[in-house]
Amino acid sequence: TAPHQHRLAVGIDLGTTNSLVATVRNSIPEVLNDEAGRSLLPSIVRYLPNGNAHIGYKAQSAQTTDPKNTIVSVKRFMGRGLKDIAYAENLPYDFLDVPGMVQLKTVAGVKSPVEISAEILATLRQQAEDALGDDLVGAVITVPAYFDDAQRQATKDAAKLAGLNVLRLLNEPTAAAIAYGLDNASEGVYAVYDLGGGTFDISVLKLTKGVFEVLATGGDSALGGDDFDHRLFCWISEEAQLAPLSDEDTRVLMVKAREAKELLSTHAEVSIDAALSSGEQVHLRLTTAIFDQITQHLVAKTLTPTRKALRDADLSVDDVDGVVLVGGATRMPSIRKAVGAYFQTTPLANIDPDKVVALGAAIQANLLAGN
Ligand code: AMP
Repeated sequence: TAPHQHRLAVGIDLGTTNSLVATVRNSIPEVLNDEAGRSLLPSIVRYLPNGNAHIGYKAQSAQTTDPKNTIVSVKRFMGRGLKDIAYAENLPYDFLDVPGMVQLKTVAGVKSPVEISAEILATLRQQAEDALGDDLVGAVITVPAYFDDAQRQATKDAAKLAGLNVLRLLNEPTAAAIAYGLDNASEGVYAVYDLGGGTFDISVLKLTKGVFEVLATGGDSALGGDDFDHRLFCWISEEAQLAPLSDEDTRVLMVKAREAKELLSTHAEVSIDAALSSGEQVHLRLTTAIFDQITQHLVAKTLTPTRKALRDADLSVDDVDGVVLVGGATRMPSIRKAVGAYFQTTPLANIDPDKVVALGAAIQANLLAGN
């Protein structure tokens, strides 16, 4: 290859719910969309009787029709034995309790979490190569800061199986900090507040001579935007004085709740309208003031692990030089306000919180590829 040739490298955010691939083109980090223009790939793999698999959106609807062969959130199983998996008995999968990593019995045979993750990574690799028109020289893949050696090794193995050359694994909070260029300072202490759909992670990073170190991590694996949806769903049921709801009506109202919550991030007031199969009609007005009031306990709940992480790092709020927001649920103004008030600084939030980790990984990949 000519010395000036750009070596194609990507950053991959291999997420529990969604995954993304990004690259740096003409010095600008950008997420690479699929052929339908979508940036997120649902982290879902459905195995078929003929041995093939559907990945992403194609697999999504099978969650309800073919749950046993449709694996969601495989990230939770990476590098884990059956005994390490919380509430495994409530999951629809056919687990094989073997020594080492858990295996799943599917219609296409026994699959390991590594093989399942490799399907997602191979799809992203293809998406990237299609978008860029050439083969990749390597990828930086992000992992949670709390991942242990077995979980990290499993991620590397999955990448190899997907035909990716792993330039490095990168901690997710570090990737977010890199996306904001925080590594351009000589030193500093940063908090990364990550509120997704189902989980909350807080990390405290220390930058010394351009290198990030994770001082502390914490969070709540059962707290996220979904809890805000559920609280709002309960409020709708109470306000509209609805009789006990059918499964179908519950689903309809949960979707309405989520839509209303997301709209409220950019509107002061929204209306919630639904015609239920029970014949009941819902017409409600919801203001940010009411929403903030009924969900304030959830906002407060994120601050408990946040305080603990700072304590674990032996730091006080004054030691923190900046705060980065990650995860779709940090679009809620109440979250931004609470985080800003706690850390006494305006959080960094101008990069899309769903893409910031992949973009940071892309910047790192571009450097490591020697561009
Ligand atoms: P993630 O897991 O990072 O993709 O985050 C998903 C969560 O972000 C879900 O609970 C979404 O409802 C939530 N979310 C996405 N957009 C918004 C928005 N505009 N306002 C509030 N929450 C949002």
